[in-house]
Amino acid sequence: MSVYERARRHALKMLLGVAIGVVFIIAVDLWIGHSSIAFAIVIFALFMANIGILGFNCPNCRKNLFFYRGVLMLPWPNKICGRCKTDLTKEPWKGK
Ligand SMILES: [Zn+2]
Repeated sequence: MSVYERARRHALKMLLGVAIGVVFIIAVDLWIGHSSIAFAIVIFALFMANIGILGFNCPNCRKNLFFYRGVLMLPWPNKICGRCKTDLTKEPWKGK
């Protein structure tokens, strides 16, 4: 499996997590009224899940697939490494 494929699956799980989080916040809102605690729980859970993103790096130069120019975080991984132009859809997964 390529590093891009692995990163893409992680991105899909994150999108699903965000969707579940939004539904959870709306549900809590309807049941017990506005709750900033529910909001905090979802943000914390998504933050913890998102740490996995740091494991998806270019096997050639170690640049992270989810970062653009090292600053902006992308919701979707890069197909081509922004630094060394390695085709990440062809590079095999060598992560942890
Ligand atoms: Zn690279």
